[in-house]
This record gives sequence, structure tokens and C-alpha cells, in this order.
Amino acid sequence: MKTLYAAMLIGSISVCALNTAIAQTAPAENPALKIYRETPPKYSDLVHTKLDVRFDYKKRYLYGKEWVTLKPHFYPTDSLRLDAQGMDIKNVSIVKAGKNTPLKFTYDSLTINIQLDRTYRNNENYTVYINYTAKPNELKAQGSAAITDAKGLYFINPDGTEKDKPTQIWTQGETQSSSAWFPTVDSPNQKTTDEITMTVPAKYVTLSNGRLASQKVNGDGTRTDTWKMELPHSPYLFMMAVGDFKITKDTWKGKEVSYYLEPKYAPYAKDIFGFTPEVIDFYSKTLGVDYPWNKYSQIVVRDYVSGAMENTSATLHGDYVQATKRELIDAYYSQGRSTIVHELFHQWFGDYVTAESWSNLSVNESFADFSETLWAEHKYGKDAGDAHINGDRLNYLSQPDLKTKDLIRFHYGNKEDMFDAVTYQKGGSILYMLRNYLGNAAFYKGLNIYLKTNAFKNGEAHQLRLALEEASGRDLNWFFNQWYFGAGHPVLNITYKWDDASKTQTVYLNQTQDGNAFILPLAIDVYAGGKMDRRKFWMRNKVDSLVFHSAVKPSLVNVDGDKMLLAKKTDSKTIDEFTFQYFNAPLYLDRFEAITAAAKQQANGGARKVIIAALNDKYYELQIKAIKAADMTNDDVRNAAQPILIKLAQTDPNTLVRAAAITALGKLKASGNTNLFKDALKSQSYAVQGAALTALSALNPEDALALAKTYEKDSEGALKQAILVTYATTGNDDQFDYVYKAFTEGQPQTQFDLMKKFADYTGRIKSSDKAQQGVKAIVDFGIKFKKYGVAPQVAALLNGVKESRAKLNDTASVAAIDKGVAELQKPE
Ligand SMILES: [Zn+2]
Repeated sequence: MKTLYAAMLIGSISVCALNTAIAQTAPAENPALKIYRETPPKYSDLVHTKLDVRFDYKKRYLYGKEWVTLKPHFYPTDSLRLDAQGMDIKNVSIVKAGKNTPLKFTYDSLTINIQLDRTYRNNENYTVYINYTAKPNELKAQGSAAITDAKGLYFINPDGTEKDKPTQIWTQGETQSSSAWFPTVDSPNQKTTDEITMTVPAKYVTLSNGRLASQKVNGDGTRTDTWKMELPHSPYLFMMAVGDFKITKDTWKGKEVSYYLEPKYAPYAKDIFGFTPEVIDFYSKTLGVDYPWNKYSQIVVRDYVSGAMENTSATLHGDYVQATKRELIDAYYSQGRSTIVHELFHQWFGDYVTAESWSNLSVNESFADFSETLWAEHKYGKDAGDAHINGDRLNYLSQPDLKTKDLIRFHYGNKEDMFDAVTYQKGGSILYMLRNYLGNAAFYKGLNIYLKTNAFKNGEAHQLRLALEEASGRDLNWFFNQWYFGAGHPVLNITYKWDDASKTQTVYLNQTQDGNAFILPLAIDVYAGGKMDRRKFWMRNKVDSLVFHSAVKPSLVNVDGDKMLLAKKTDSKTIDEFTFQYFNAPLYLDRFEAITAAAKQQANGGARKVIIAALNDKYYELQIKAIKAADMTNDDVRNAAQPILIKLAQTDPNTLVRAAAITALGKLKASGNTNLFKDALKSQSYAVQGAALTALSALNPEDALALAKTYEKDSEGALKQAILVTYATTGNDDQFDYVYKAFTEGQPQTQFDLMKKFADYTGRIKSSDKAQQGVKAIVDFGIKFKKYGVAPQVAALLNGVKESRAKLNDTASVAAIDKGVAELQKPE
């Protein structure tokens, strides 16, 4: 699963107090953390699950018949427990020779306890028939603490009353929601083959796991589709989707690869997903295990509750992945496209071999996270891979409350808590280090052994360790103990001393985190006399030092020469050394660190050389970093940077670099650039257009307002955002409805980006009615995202609006604000 939401929100409002807010509201002593989260015991094993379902769109019900085949896991038993959330259970029978004999059972809205007709041994399969109604929308009414808003089965616009929204049904099983639509043993350490028969309105298409075995048109305007998954997989990976989707077919080695999209986006199916077969091929070869399922489909649905989900052979994406060919011009890999490869890698790490419990979620999610970097370096080069994994490290390190959490975690409050930056980004970074330590060939051989040994079964971190040890012949307990079963990361201080008399260089390494030392195999690169010399060093103590001779004073001592450490690092290099590093050390992170250091010291000539050179760095994200860092108030920087920025703004092949250069030039408010901006406004790239409109806005607000109007119709992404900001900044009551609509209907990211401007606009307009509309929209937004800690920030904005409205004697809006703020501040 890719939990897009939280990541997006954290990323976008990192400037506000989100993380602190969450940390403060978390109770210090959560009793749930004291519970040891054991792997679910296996009394009975699922063998085969056969479902026959119909949907009641009006009632939001699923009418189901199930034939579930099981066997005792080891010990003989005469009873069976099945998870079934909030259902009506009409009949439970044992099936023998095609005949149903009713069984005694009790049901408490969560579990069906069934008394079997006799005691079964573990070499005997038996089949139980269940007739039931699933009522996902009434789950909350069951009032159980175990049931949150995880409905399992979602009816989207089932009455067709929401304009511009298709009618769809889709499911979401992870973590434990499949049992909201069929009775099962809802644990990741269960595996079952399945067969799902769906009867749906004939105008819709269906998708499920495995192959479409049959379709039958019925006389009553419905059609019955049967999907068969003939290889075992876990119940949380079951899926169904029903709706008006257009299917675009592709292929890999004779297997169907398909993309299910709303008809409107179907023409762009290959632009969005067309690289899928290439990724399947790459992962198959890298892992030495061909894509294991009979087909690979991807479907895009509305109102999805997370980012995307790796249902076996049928990944489901949220609608943010839908885009036109033109929008995709700006959709570089690191701009949200990595989800597509993340879900695909799960088809091996997650679906083929499954984490045996949520405590071991790392063997699913850390790998899927790591796979994003794998594809980046394979497809776009080492810099792109290094940039991706560095983003992971920074994401994890920016959340200090995570440093107490083990990667393999047997104590957690809620299983959903496992889906955090420890399991994803920290886990991915650890795999990156492990691959560096073992070398690519041994690492991938280990993954191959892990997959083959545990195929169609479950794995935990120990199986991973054993497989990597088998491949490499090296003990890895030290690595797993500190990184998998321990918490935190090294906080590493690095200082240097050169002694000219003895020609010795000392490197002092000091780990200052609480607790034990991390054992760190390090490469230390010494650049002296025009050549580089690598020294290997194991840091085993919290304080270590390394002394070596050098004929001349080194120009640079580069600790962690492979730049693979997950650590909070303070490196006391001088700016001269960082400058040398930018121009001589080879890696993305070498240059990244140098630009970071140079950005802070632009009075220094060397630092300026780094910033100016980096404007043309070979990797676009570093170009953008330098563009943003360049201090244009420094005459030397500006004089050197301006001609380069003008060239980048006009001709750089990367549209995000062009946009960043335009944005930097825009801040100069130099009328000489007006034509450059006007030309850029004609670009096909929304990012370039958006930057150009914003730059023009700063130069001449009236002109920009008129121009914005002409681009309203064909605007998406950054251009749309720039139009909204232009209106919100300089518009009057005439543009308010447009901005209001965009704000209320926008994606969370759009809303966050626009929120402050929208609040200012709401404070400024003449109409009290419109102002009250605006206030309501801001309050609704604050309530919707209250759980992410935004309420104080939204309340502060509203108080600003209140001051403005009070000056306009708009008592109605002032009252609405008081009421809204009170509601936001109410404890949950
Ligand atoms: Zn995932």
C-alpha cells in the first residue's frame, strides 16, 4: 500500500506545527503499546474461497454466498472461527456431496463461531457454506472499538446523485477489512485460492484477482462475471471493482497487462501506465523470479481511501494518478509516478511472499519503498536513484518521534500505525545500505533465495536474514539486530585534524545518540595530490578515530564515500573542502551536501562558484536546488546567475528547471523579463506557464489578472494554481466563485497550497454572503484534516479573516468565524 495522504500532508505543511501537534496529542503512556502483537495463531487454514455476490446499490449492501474450504492447521478440531464484520449471517452449513447440512453457530458482529459436524484432522479438507449480507456503511453503527471507518467495500455515488462523479464499487482489504465483505480468517499469514462471481448491471465492467473465467449476460439487464485466482494469496489482497471503466490492453511475455480507466482518461492509458511491461521485465530479471501471476491489471478509482493498493494481480490506484498527456509533461518520476512501480514490486514482496504479521510489515513495505529507488537508478541513472533514497532518509529523519520505533515492531497502538516512515522510508534506506554492504549480486541472490524459499507463503525478517546469509556467506545478525530489531539511527559528528609536522591526518568520529553504538562499515575517501584513495573502516565504538599519513594535506577527506549511511550527520568540513567536493566527488549526495553548505555562505567565492556551477548540474533536481538557493540579493551571485537563469528559463529541456528559473527571475521584478515570461506562458507545460503567470503577476498585477482569465479554460496543475493565486491576490468579488469552487473541490494538496491566499481573499471581498461561504469552506477544511493537527493553523488564519471582516463591519461573517473557531478547538 502507498499511504499517499499522510506523506503529502506532512510534506506540504512541514512549515507549520504538524509534527509537533501529533507528538503532543499522542498520549505519553499508551496502554495499547504494552500489548505484545503476536503472529495470529493458525487453528484452521484457508484452502479455497468461492464467492457469489450481488450488490444492492440503494441499500449499499452486498448479498453473498460463500463456499469456504479449510483444514485444521495441525491439531484436530471440531470448531471454526471466521472473521465477519457487521454482517447478517443467514445460514451456515457443512457441504457434503453437494448437500448442505446446517451447523450451529454464534455471531457477535465480528466473529462467527461455528460448531462443525465432527472433529477434523489436518489431512482432511471440509467446505462450509455461508449465506450472508455485508453492510459496510452500517459498520460504525455496530459500535465496536475494533471497527473504524475501514469499510472494506465502498459504494461511490451509488444513487448517481453526485454530478461529474461516476458510479463505482471497489474494495480495500489491507489491513483487516476484507472480512467486512466476506467471512474469512482475516490474517496475512493465511493463503487461499479463490473464485469470485459477481452479478452486476450489464453496462459495467468488473475486475478481480486472477483470470476472467466466464461472462454470462442475464435476461434482467445484468451480467455475471466469474474471476478465478488459481494461486494462493492472502485475504487482504482480495479485490473487486465494478464500474464504467475503459480497458486498455498491453502485454508482457504473453501475459495480459491492462489499464482500467474512466473513459475520459482512457486515451492517455499508455502515457500513464505504458512503462509497466518494462518494469515487470526489469524486476523479473533483477529478482530472478518471473512475475508470478497470470495477469497484471491496474485500475484507477474515485474517492480512494489511501494512495494505492497492491491487490494480487489487480492493483488499485487513487484518481490522483489520472492525468492527460499534457499534465504528464511535468510528471517526472519523483513527482508521484513512483507509486506505479511501488505497487508492482509488491506483487513479489507482499503478494508472492507475504509479511506473516503486521509487526513484520517491513518485508512488504520497506521493499516496495526500496523498489522505487531501484527503478529510478535503472531507468534514469544513479543520480536519480540516489536522489530518491536521499528523499527517503530526509523524510524519516524529519520526524524525530520515530526514532524510538523498531523496524520490526511487536508493540504498536494500532496496526495502521505500522504504515509509517520507519516501515517505508527508513526500511528502504536500510535495504539500500545492506545492498551496498553485500554488493549487488549477493544482495539480489539473497532476495531470490528469500522469494523461492517462501513462495506462496509468509516471511519475516529472520527469513530475509537467513536468505541473505546463505547467498553471501556472511553473518548478518549484527546488521539485523541494530537496524531491524533496534530503533533509531546514528547521530554522527565528524571532525578533522591535519598535523603538518608529522604529515598525519586524523578523522574523529563520534556517535552522540542515546544507547549503544551502531556498527558501521565505512568507506573513507582521501583526496590528496590529485588522486583519491579509499580506506575501509569499521566503526564499532561510539567514539572512534582514524589516523593516516599523507604526503600532502588532503584537499578532502570524504567520510561515507558511497553516501549510503542512514544517519544524522554533522560534518565539520570547511567551505573550501565542500567546494572541492562539489567539483571532484562523484555522487549526487556529494554535490547535494556541497550545495547545501554553499547556500549558507554565498559571501565566499568558492561557495558562489558551487552555486553558479550547480545551476547547470547534470541532475535536474540539483539544478533546482541551486536555483532556489541562489541569493539574488548578492550582486556577485545575481550578475553571474542571471544570464544562466535566462537561458535555463528559455531552453532547458526539463520543464521543472525552466519553471524554477522563471520563478527565480520573477522575484527580481525586472520589467526587462516581461517578454520572456509572456513567451513562457505559451508553453505546453503547465509548470512553466504557472511560473510565468506568477512572475507576470509580480510585475503587473492588472495585466496578469486579464491574462489569467484567458487561460482559465485550459488550466491544470501549476497553471491552475497560479491563476487561483493571481485571483486570490488581486481579484475582486467577480473571481471569488471560481476560486471558491477550486478550493472546495480541490485535492488536499491544492487546498493546502491555496489556503492562506484564500483566507486573505475571503477577508478582503465586499460581499458578506461570499465571505461567509469562504469562512465555511475554511472551517470545513480544518475539521476534515483536524486529525493531522492543522486545527491551530486554520484557527489562526480564521482570526486574521475576522479582523478584516470586522473592519468591513461584516458582523455575520465575524459570528460565523467565532462559531467555526470554537468548533475547531473542540477536543476530539
Ligand atoms: Zn506499499
